[in-house]
Amino acid sequence: MSSSSQDRRGHITIAGVRKSYTRGTEAVTVLSGVDLEIEAGRVVALMGPSGSGKSTLLNLVGGLDHADAGRITVDTTEITALHADELAAWRSRHVGFVFQSFNLIPVLTAQENVELPLLLQPLSKAQRKEQARYALEIVGLADRAGHRPGQLSGGQEQRVAIARAIASDPTLILADEPTGDLDRTNADAVLQMLRRLADELGKTVLMVTHDNAASAFAHQTVHLDKGALAGVAHA
Ligand code: ADP
Ligand code: MG
Repeated sequence: MSSSSQDRRGHITIAGVRKSYTRGTEAVTVLSGVDLEIEAGRVVALMGPSGSGKSTLLNLVGGLDHADAGRITVDTTEITALHADELAAWRSRHVGFVFQSFNLIPVLTAQENVELPLLLQPLSKAQRKEQARYALEIVGLADRAGHRPGQLSGGQEQRVAIARAIASDPTLILADEPTGDLDRTNADAVLQMLRRLADELGKTVLMVTHDNAASAFAHQTVHLDKGALAGVAHA
């Protein structure tokens, strides 16, 4: 899980991104021209009121949705120009997602949950096991590899979800309210872990959050309001 020697690995450029959804017959503008530059290896907290388009922006960066206009470039790849199949391939190589509600499969062990996205990679079974094991070590849960989600605390479940996100050694970690279901102690542990992924492994972390404490763990906090970014603050 080495970070690349290319120092722009994980650099995100968002330029003039617009997105609206149709609700019934009316178009609702969610993003009305977002510009943002994120340096590789940084943790950026994306804040803003509920419904301000945070998840929409995160999903666009992760290639889960299509922008109506504008460009998103990650390193040398303009992801907004990729076709669906290219985008899916790019995503499985470069993006690890972390969700508020962990989204672990209850009948699988921690180890098996972490291995799951690796099935999309050209790896042998032994390599898959090894990479998942290593990811669990990074989040400090190697000793829980055989536990099912129901046998873990919420904080441990989210750490397994982080291990799943990093197992394929992605360029970007995209986290949507990763501490929303956690108490303060576990939330801080998760935030600290996301910061370590940037500082020690060189990952670029974009995190949507309502948690004011998250800013302390981020290099940069940006606020989304009424479809645009306001008050871009650097730590
Ligand atoms: P946030 O994450 O900041 O709470 P979202 O990005 O989830 O906001 O949503 C922004 C707005 O876009 C909301 O009004 C939401 O209802 C709307 N929206 C999000 N996704 C869809 C969708 N797939 N179809 C229609 N409207 C959507
Ligand atoms: Mg959201």
